[in-house]
Amino acid sequence: MAISRGALAARRLLEECGIDDPNEIPLELIVSGRGATLRYEPLKNSDGRIVFGERRTIISVNSNLEFEGRKRFTIAHELGHHEMHRSSLEVHNENESTLSWFDDKVNRSKKGIQEAEANQFASELLMPSDIFFSECSDYEFSPGLIRHLSDKFSTSRTSTVFRYLELGPHPICVFYCHNNKVMYWKKSEEFKNFIIDRINLSPPDDSVAAEYFKEGKIYSKAQSKQQIWKSTWFDMKEWENDRNYKFYEYSIVTPGYNTVLSVVWEE
Ligand SMILES: [Zn+2]
Repeated sequence: MAISRGALAARRLLEECGIDDPNEIPLELIVSGRGATLRYEPLKNSDGRIVFGERRTIISVNSNLEFEGRKRFTIAHELGHHEMHRSSLEVHNENESTLSWFDDKVNRSKKGIQEAEANQFASELLMPSDIFFSECSDYEFSPGLIRHLSDKFSTSRTSTVFRYLELGPHPICVFYCHNNKVMYWKKSEEFKNFIIDRINLSPPDDSVAAEYFKEGKIYSKAQSKQQIWKSTWFDMKEWENDRNYKFYEYSIVTPGYNTVLSVVWEE
């Protein structure tokens, strides 16, 4: 895989600061070491904000953000703007779309390449590819592995899933649903099954995602790996039989936003 511009900038920063494992150093220190000031303040409809002043850059993070992983990702994303986009941005606010992981055409034209670069920067800074890969290369894919990685890197489960999708050895496919509608999907390069296009439609009736939207069902940790049919999310050839496959779905539910991120994989 080619290294993205965002990931390169993050590696350069780690090298210049002589940091091997960024999880050993508070993010606040890295930010101030790069000449930016970090503030926590309540922000309306925005996770973070960056203002490029003549002398100093001010990074504000919404103090109402509940989860540590989301906070860290926002700080790292803004630091990415500070490192790469100083000359082209003046003031910039983050919202649901700029921090989105779905780098599809629609999103890209809406938010521009700079947001994708800042996200690449953030994920390389928080989950450096070599450390991430060595943490997951010896294990089968499972919800427990995602929880382990997200604890290890202090990142949200969502950003961990997307990092796994990029770097993990086991092919997975990810569906993001909001208000009972499939908004986007994304898959590992190696994931070979043909996906039924359901963008803007409800998730399949027999999916774990649908169980949440229809019945409010959220599985416990121990049960978060649920077996489903291949035909639930994927197209079947006439000669294929559902009984010959073992597919699983792991749904990460965020009730406050009414979203479900479903990870689907074949054993
Ligand atoms: Zn941004």
